[in-house]
Amino acid sequence: MLIVQKYGGTSMGTLERIDEVAKRVIKYKNEGHSLVIVVSAMSGVTNKLIEYAEFFTKRPQGREMDQLLSAGERVTSALLSIALVSKGYEAITLSGRQAGILTDNLHTKARIHSIDTRRMKNELDAGKIVVVAGFQGVNENGDVTTLGRGGSDLSAVAIAGAMDADLCEIYTDVDGVYTTDPRIEPKAKKLDKISYDEMLELASLGAKVLQNRSVELAKKLNVNLVTRNSFNENEGTLITGENNMEAVLVSGIALDKNQARVTIRGVVDKPGIAAEIFSALAKKDINVDMIIQNVGVDGTANIGFTIPQNEFELAKEVMSQTAPASKIVCNSEIVKVSIVGVGMKSHSGVAALAFSTLAKEGINIQMISTSEIKVSMIVHEKYGELAVRALHDAYKLDK
Ligand code: ADP
Ligand code: ASP
Ligand code: MG
Repeated sequence: MLIVQKYGGTSMGTLERIDEVAKRVIKYKNEGHSLVIVVSAMSGVTNKLIEYAEFFTKRPQGREMDQLLSAGERVTSALLSIALVSKGYEAITLSGRQAGILTDNLHTKARIHSIDTRRMKNELDAGKIVVVAGFQGVNENGDVTTLGRGGSDLSAVAIAGAMDADLCEIYTDVDGVYTTDPRIEPKAKKLDKISYDEMLELASLGAKVLQNRSVELAKKLNVNLVTRNSFNENEGTLITGENNMEAVLVSGIALDKNQARVTIRGVVDKPGIAAEIFSALAKKDINVDMIIQNVGVDGTANIGFTIPQNEFELAKEVMSQTAPASKIVCNSEIVKVSIVGVGMKSHSGVAALAFSTLAKEGINIQMISTSEIKVSMIVHEKYGELAVRALHDAYKLDK
């Protein structure tokens, strides 16, 4: 079989851990599989590099950031390859560029255009274990790009798709996908399988066990995707195209801490005003999520919306061109709590239970948004984890 395995930051977190990963890789190699290994930077390294840059400026240049951020994965991929060779196995490390991963120019959250798989295939044909630095590619100018936080998952899925791999295993520090983050709710249950759609929703709403874009791509390319624990041999969670979970009302709860809220007060209530504000944000590729507009009495309105917290500085800058600073109120002390389930489509009362559950805990809901398969609520950050546990209980997800 051709297997793509991705090892995350904790799995690659120390030299000893890298040694353990090398042993696992060798076990698969000895079973006769062809292997492409995609790795993350050691845990904490990417954050540290961002912190270094922010010592100089809050808004570093994208191109320079990518040159910096891609370094973490270069280190771990080379170390793993060195470890494998030292154990008597042929291995070769490839950067994103050497692996043929071509992206667009959107620095720090680039999209993969195509993968030229020739180099990887040649190395596999020569019997080598291919170790690829995750999270990165190269644009048409030859500049390094990175794929957004958690982007090594995307590297792995994209390579698995392009190479037509039989299996893509994402190794992390928990046994698989749970009904909610097991670090917040120890009673969370591991799921044996979950549909692409539900996983995509959970990931998009903050469950970082898989990067959302990797799930989207896995669905599109029909990649056989499994998440597993690199610290044990337990069976993981299969992400599948099957949607036979109609009976399950709610399959999981997600918490997204990377949220900020912007309110623009007293905007003139006339046609085109929303278009003006949101086009300006879209031009800078800022992801606007929930939007609320309150109509005032004096012909003005308040427009509130949420954005990822790490795009806060950029959004403030963009907003200052459309509205005077005195009218812009920013609040980053918020989180988004969401319940997800394909079964919600055909049932009523699911959202009502969420609202009454938070009310019972005395948690005020600041914003709400719903779709066919999710209900999201913005609450004060100090209530985020409490809300997750209360909802997990209310929907009996531990049963
Ligand atoms: P890696 O470095 O391996 O990519 P991440 O930290 O990105 O690992 O993702 C794994 C973490 O995701 C887990 O440690 C867990 O705390 C968190 N997590 C959040 N939601 C879930 C969930 N529903 N199921 C499993 N893990 C989750
Ligand atoms: N090292 C990158 C990050 O921390 C990519 C990854 O781990 O997937 O976001
Ligand atoms: Mg990750």
